[in-house]
Amino acid sequence: MGGQPAPASTYRYNEKPTYTTSNGAPVNNPHAFQRVGPMGPLLLQDFHLIDQLSHFDRERIPERVVHAKGAGAYGEFEVTHDISDITSIDMLLGVGKKTKCITRFSTVGGEKGSADTARDPRGFAIKFYTEEGNWDWVFNNTPIFFLRDPTNFPLFIHTQKRNPQTNLKDATMFWDYLSSHHESVHQLMHLFSDRGTPYSYRHMNGYSGHTTKWVKPDGSYVYTQIHLKTDQGIKTFNNEEASKMSADNPDWNTQDLFEAIQRGEHPSWTVYVQVLTPEQAKKFRWNVFDLTKVWPQGEVPLRPFGRLTLNRNPENYFAEIEQAAFSPSHLVPGVEPSADPVLQSRLFSYPDTHRHRLGVNYQQIPVNAPLHAFNPFQRDGGMAVNGNYGANPNYPSNYRPLTYKRVNPAAAKEEWVGRAVYDVFAEVNDDDYVQPKGLWEVLGRTPGQQDNFVHNVAVHLSGAHEATRNRTYEMFKKVDAGLGAKIQAATEKEVK
Ligand code: NDP
Repeated sequence: MGGQPAPASTYRYNEKPTYTTSNGAPVNNPHAFQRVGPMGPLLLQDFHLIDQLSHFDRERIPERVVHAKGAGAYGEFEVTHDISDITSIDMLLGVGKKTKCITRFSTVGGEKGSADTARDPRGFAIKFYTEEGNWDWVFNNTPIFFLRDPTNFPLFIHTQKRNPQTNLKDATMFWDYLSSHHESVHQLMHLFSDRGTPYSYRHMNGYSGHTTKWVKPDGSYVYTQIHLKTDQGIKTFNNEEASKMSADNPDWNTQDLFEAIQRGEHPSWTVYVQVLTPEQAKKFRWNVFDLTKVWPQGEVPLRPFGRLTLNRNPENYFAEIEQAAFSPSHLVPGVEPSADPVLQSRLFSYPDTHRHRLGVNYQQIPVNAPLHAFNPFQRDGGMAVNGNYGANPNYPSNYRPLTYKRVNPAAAKEEWVGRAVYDVFAEVNDDDYVQPKGLWEVLGRTPGQQDNFVHNVAVHLSGAHEATRNRTYEMFKKVDAGLGAKIQAATEKEVK
């Protein structure tokens, strides 16, 4: 461990191509530049130099506001079990069927240069290049999230980033928000357990978190949640190991993933689905559209159906990972979003980000391009590099008939009736502390995990103002009186 990855792919080109300007004209000397006389000023006509500089000045595109730091790799998904009784999604039909994909793992709150081992949820995004279009799973390594009201997303993220005045990470902001939004406490329990600092991307699970609908051709559907369990086993850093690694090698997770694949150690995940019929969902104790709740595995068993294996590193980080554009709205026939309002808002927000960062034609970038796409009515726009559909009509024309495939959305059979309401998802109530307490008990099954949790909270919370600390103790006491008391004692000991 330590050090930087060997530039394994850098030196394997044998051919000796001719160096040129960006317009393809041969250049004699890449270091030379045009000037007046041996010591005079530069000439504006020197396209090679001017183009080099101006291209350099534009090398950075906007970094992602969240999930800025990431790493990724290519792989494949294989169907391992027949689940045709619950789905008609083409990619999932037929045991042994394989679909190529690209993944991107990330931290959430830090900037592009931030440390991989920060205490933070991890993004776990996958783009499957299916025969029926790209299907993106934009998952995290936790089965839930901090919020269930989409309006809270930008507000919450602001508190995890930098103080507007000091430009420093700010423990008071962090806990001020969270201690005022108790629906967050379940995710906090995950974040401050040792799973909040995974050893590597290979050693963590992925979860859909959101509920989606798997739809059959007759319009019937089931609600689903997907889990990817690491075949490498869960492995975590403790708080001090993670902090040390942040200083010693801030790119550790990036390096670990690249080098493992380079060595031929291809990480894999077993993929499961939890299923509820709409009737079961109506009677279920938990609202299936509430992103702060899991479906208890004892009540809704995990059904295995596939394996994800990563087997190839990208050739070029910027082209293939920085420009990879995932969205929960990139769906295929047979899957539809549920009414989870956070999911609904992400359907908009992700492509909005891509249009901003990469341009309106982001789906034409090779890493994002579907296997088969024919959409000649979308035309022009910045960087239309796929031929722009040539002479095809840019409207549905009688002179160029197209095939319109029937896909039978369940939504076509659903009826939504109601007054427009302007409200939050739900006020915090006693139910919001039940699953966090469940996780506290799960931590108690492994010696040391509860103590680590208390310690991990204490070292962070001790940096917050007193009133915020007190509010946070009260929140944890609602989860479990003993837990709250332990956090209070441990935190106050840490306060400088
Ligand atoms: P179960 O006892 O059936 O499952 C508990 C799950 O907790 C395990 O399957 C494992 O998930 C996960 N887990 C185990 N150790 C840790 C840890 N140190 N940190 C975080 N997660 C851990 O109980 P329930 O399904 O009824 O859930 C009880 C609590 O477990 C929930 O409140 C929830 O917070 C947590 N949990 C539940 C999940 C779910 O989807 N039901 C998923 C993950 C956590 P895994 O097998 O995925 O590693």
